[in-house]
Amino acid sequence: MGPTKAIIKDQALYEASTGKFIKDGFASRHEIDDYVKHHYLALPVIDNAGNAWQLDGKPIYCYRGSQYETVDDRRVHLARCPDCGGMGIRADEFVVESDCIRCTQCGHEFDARLEMMET
Ligand SMILES: [Zn+2]
Repeated sequence: MGPTKAIIKDQALYEASTGKFIKDGFASRHEIDDYVKHHYLALPVIDNAGNAWQLDGKPIYCYRGSQYETVDDRRVHLARCPDCGGMGIRADEFVVESDCIRCTQCGHEFDARLEMMET
């Protein structure tokens, strides 16, 4: 079991899967990040502009830098766009050998394997 997936609503934290209230009373986003870090929680992935990634309207969580999961613990093949930090999805699902990723935000195409080697 990984960290509990949480979402932020009106400066309060809730469990993403059940909607269960976790904690409120945060003065700033920084305080939320701090709490999350110390309580084995995970927050949705956001792009460089601070917008949360959405796949079929659901937030996405990232573990160990490159492993992405949906709220219901389904592993998804995604990569972070090096330009805008947006969500990149596999450009052509029919070509198995290809690992070409296309950013849903800016349209930038990049190779996920290359990204992993660099980081
Ligand atoms: Zn992008």
